[in-house]
Amino acid sequence: MSKHIKLFIPGPTEVSKKTLEAFASPMIGHRSKEFQALYRDVQPSLQQLFYTQRPVFFSTSSAWGVMEGALRNLVQKKVLCCMNGAFSDKWFDVAIRCGKEAEKLQYPWGIPVDPTDLKNRLKTGEFDAVTVIHNETSTGMMNPLFEIAGVMREFPEVSFIVDCVSSFSVLKIPFDELGIDVMLTGTQKALALPPGGALFAVSQRAMTKAEKTPARGYYFDFLEFQKNHEKDMTPSTPSISLFYALKSKLSEIFNEGVENRYHRHLTMAQMTRRWATERGFELFPQKGYESVSLSCIKNNLGIDIPSWIQLLKNRFAVTIDGGYGKIKGQTFRISHMGDETPETIGKLLENLDECLQEVKKH
Ligand SMILES: *Cc1c(COP(=O)(O)O)cnc(C)c1O
Repeated sequence: MSKHIKLFIPGPTEVSKKTLEAFASPMIGHRSKEFQALYRDVQPSLQQLFYTQRPVFFSTSSAWGVMEGALRNLVQKKVLCCMNGAFSDKWFDVAIRCGKEAEKLQYPWGIPVDPTDLKNRLKTGEFDAVTVIHNETSTGMMNPLFEIAGVMREFPEVSFIVDCVSSFSVLKIPFDELGIDVMLTGTQKALALPPGGALFAVSQRAMTKAEKTPARGYYFDFLEFQKNHEKDMTPSTPSISLFYALKSKLSEIFNEGVENRYHRHLTMAQMTRRWATERGFELFPQKGYESVSLSCIKNNLGIDIPSWIQLLKNRFAVTIDGGYGKIKGQTFRISHMGDETPETIGKLLENLDECLQEVKKH
């Protein structure tokens, strides 16, 4: 096997040896008492992290499965897609592919959703669902979720669908308090688990609506998740390995303490932003909306990013990301979520500096 390159990319993130060992536990039947116990075991911790009394469902799919599923379960009339980056732009496209009526609330990449714009669009009464990406991983920008939730509260008939894929467990996102209808995340971002799983909660109001939505399909039918949840099971054979890894990770999270975890993430974000600006770089997102999970940094110094990353890999066996989609090369991204610490991020920033000096010489 070739040398492992440690990942500082915003997903999949680096997975610890401890987590990989839990992931490699022997199989059990997914309709067995052992599995039911495992399912029951992770539930209270997940509800705590979602800040909800509702069940937390597990889907064996990447996050996109549930992102598509939310549309198929909840859009009866028309969905308004808040768009300002690669993932949120794509969600509109997915709605169209699902045969849903959809409209864009489009901003340039890196510019946050303006809650007033959202309110004005919802006042038309045309929409019965809204999609929002809390943390746009492509641009390293966090939308003002609490302000958006304030607007959504005035439109209780409009389903509020939130992607927290790369912000879940990085900071507090209280599902019940914000009145969110669907909140979803993936395993391979801040949870630092292997890819292949998605976790999500659905409000009672959304569940009742889903009952009357035709063509929900089977694999992502929220009613199937609810029915199986009542038996401590998933609709189809889940990634049992991910359940073991999740159990291990949840115990780590609560051992560290949730508040300590949030604080650790904020510290790493602040360190990385400071590092960038002190070297003359600018952050990509609009000021005040920088992500806590990752930093998306403008290549305003004209650095040869592929060479920089290659040098990092060769010399230090670590890697960062060279930018996503249409801002590849114009930006680079450093992930500081998951198991990273101020120490590991400090070391990475030193490595980045050393390689940067060299790349600048050429
Ligand atoms: C990574 C990511 C996704 C897509 O996740 P998959 O697991 O690849 O389906 C969606 N939204 C955001 C914000 C992401 O960061």
